Amino acid sequence: MSRTALRICPLCEATCGLTLTIEGTKVTGARGDRDDVFSKGFICPKGASFGAVDGDPDRLRTPLVRKDGELREATWEEAFDAVAAGIRPVVERYGANSVGVVLGNPNVHTMAGALYPAVLIAGLGTRSLFTASTVDQMPKHVSSGLLFGDANAIPVPDLDRTDHLLLIGANPLESNGSLCTAADFPGKLKALKARGGALTVIDPRRTRTAKLADRHIPVRPGTDALLLAAMTHVLFDESLVDLGELGPHVEGVDELVQAVREFTPEAVAEACDVEAALIRTLARELAAAPTAAVYGRIGSCTVPYGTLASWLVDVLNILTGNLDRPGGALFPQAATDRTPRPAGPGHGFQLARWHSRVSRHPEAKGELPLSALAEEIDTATDEGEPIRALVAVAANPVLSAPDGDRLDKALDALDFMVSVDPYLNETSRHADVVLPPPPPSQSPHHDFAFNTLAVRNQVRYTRAAVPLEPGRMAETEILARLTLAATGMHGADPGAVDDLVVGQTLGKAVKDPHSPVHGRDPRELAAQLTGDTGPERRLDMMLRLGPYGDGFGARPDGLGLARLLAAPHGIDLGPLRPRLPQPLKTRSGRIELLPKPIVDDLPRLREGMRQRTDGLVLVGRRHLRSNNSWMHNVPALTGGTNRCTLHIHPEDAERLGVRDGEPVRVKGAGGEVTAPAELTDQMRQGVVSLPHGWGHDRPGTRLSHAAADPGVNVNQLLDGSLLDPLSGNAVLNGVPVEVAALPAR
Ligand code: SF4
Repeated sequence: MSRTALRICPLCEATCGLTLTIEGTKVTGARGDRDDVFSKGFICPKGASFGAVDGDPDRLRTPLVRKDGELREATWEEAFDAVAAGIRPVVERYGANSVGVVLGNPNVHTMAGALYPAVLIAGLGTRSLFTASTVDQMPKHVSSGLLFGDANAIPVPDLDRTDHLLLIGANPLESNGSLCTAADFPGKLKALKARGGALTVIDPRRTRTAKLADRHIPVRPGTDALLLAAMTHVLFDESLVDLGELGPHVEGVDELVQAVREFTPEAVAEACDVEAALIRTLARELAAAPTAAVYGRIGSCTVPYGTLASWLVDVLNILTGNLDRPGGALFPQAATDRTPRPAGPGHGFQLARWHSRVSRHPEAKGELPLSALAEEIDTATDEGEPIRALVAVAANPVLSAPDGDRLDKALDALDFMVSVDPYLNETSRHADVVLPPPPPSQSPHHDFAFNTLAVRNQVRYTRAAVPLEPGRMAETEILARLTLAATGMHGADPGAVDDLVVGQTLGKAVKDPHSPVHGRDPRELAAQLTGDTGPERRLDMMLRLGPYGDGFGARPDGLGLARLLAAPHGIDLGPLRPRLPQPLKTRSGRIELLPKPIVDDLPRLREGMRQRTDGLVLVGRRHLRSNNSWMHNVPALTGGTNRCTLHIHPEDAERLGVRDGEPVRVKGAGGEVTAPAELTDQMRQGVVSLPHGWGHDRPGTRLSHAAADPGVNVNQLLDGSLLDPLSGNAVLNGVPVEVAALPAR
């Protein structure tokens, strides 16, 4: 007998609602949930393969603990005993910063990843935090922090209502959107065109998204910030600036005029390889559109001027009056956001509160660059202890960070390492303890992060579709127990972690004069929380304290977990609405258009106008059936066009004697790899592309399908030294490489 169950898809940022078909405890099918308030039935090939991802036979079923040099199956008790015995002596002997924490990108796709790592990091007291953000979107966090005073205040394009969309370094037809949660992003772009809107794509590759556009501009990789600065210049030069309603909330406009004075279209045209007249046209069209949104994504972030490009994206939205208005770029309001406080000056955003030990990289948002992880482990300095123990949660930095070979060796030198990971992969194979979470069908789901980036306000929660298999432990409990074991409370009830957070959160809320629970007794509020588990009670608390919440009775029609459970397809909370000035947390209480760290970094961009690259440069690429390194072990999601090949323009190939399908050697500052060439005129001449997340050829892993077609690790071409200095983000695009034909094998 089969049955169906709802599950929000965790396989990309679009958060589609799925209807799973389940036979016994096995997921045998997945289709889009037509009644889902957000995705309305949309599904992509990854979501349709949910059952294959969920039921991958290579998933670990029990914890592994290293004994006599080998990882062996163990009980949960043995595993957490080993964690406590491995981490605490390191903390006690060498200090908290000698324990590193690495959080991978799947953490934002699980409830456990949203609810527990902050408690773990605070409990450890370590400043050695590294996440996938610094090989991805940290520049956007930094620019938002500087402009708006809140690194997580990221405006998203109002896809359903805009008249004009300018995409930079984004390929949502493959990614389904990122830092912009929109189920059926492709359909929304087609709808934009159908209603007479304009779509422009700036990307060195003629991607599927670029093919859909009215205009595609194959910019030289890494020069987006120059192009955007020149567009900003044109807005001032041609008196096209119109802040509209934003006027009272913005400071620094006059100073910005001076700051971009040199960035004329003519001055940047050669560096960007975009004609000056076209840059002027882009600026004029943006200013003339009834509503417009500029949206930059990974291609504009993972470059030497990533923060400047991210800043300029919002500068253009602001100067054309498109920030915070329908059809422009707006700040979503998620149901679990904190209770909005009244508008006014905030604490602002600070960078460089501490630095990495070896290369003195400044922290950003409490994180150090993932590029620096290897050297923080393998290099001794007088500045303090190296990292001697590592906690990796859903992280595979051997493939996702620059110079995996160096990191591979460094991980072997650690005193202790624990990985929370469903697979024995290129990183977790180094661990002393591996703690495997259950497959996604056995976990409840709510998108804490992605709802703060969604193009429509809504809230959804799905309980586990399948009961926990015997011997499994809920991922939330794994992270709670890990937190206790790592912070000297090994053996305590895991519910103590949730109780601690509930107590602290409610304790603060009752003291906040703007909170709906101001002045009440936190114990009385805690007693009112509903939910079957600690994580559910925490979700209930956040909903009830949030902007749509019932305020624990203060707003009886408001949200709480019970109302959410009664709406299995979710609750629509309406289109995005203007929110300024409330989200601003800058010290001035206004949008600070030209913050000092940006001023200090602009000379580097001016220098960039004069730089030229003669040789080939490398960019990444995304595939609809892939997401980082996660899904290469699923046969249904690999093969066909999803292969680790080097895309190269036919004329570059001819010049280098490279033939389609034959192997080429690609050499970068960090090393070299060999991959088959794939000739395609979708590439700009002078630019080659390799996808990331591949390179499953290391011994000691348990990824049978991925190992059969391993691909190569593109990050091995990097040496970790190329960073965007403000954010510490790795430079992954526009990286100089040499390509040479090899004899066919
Ligand atoms: S678009 Fe993303 S969320 Fe939607 S089904 Fe595909 S992988 Fe899942």
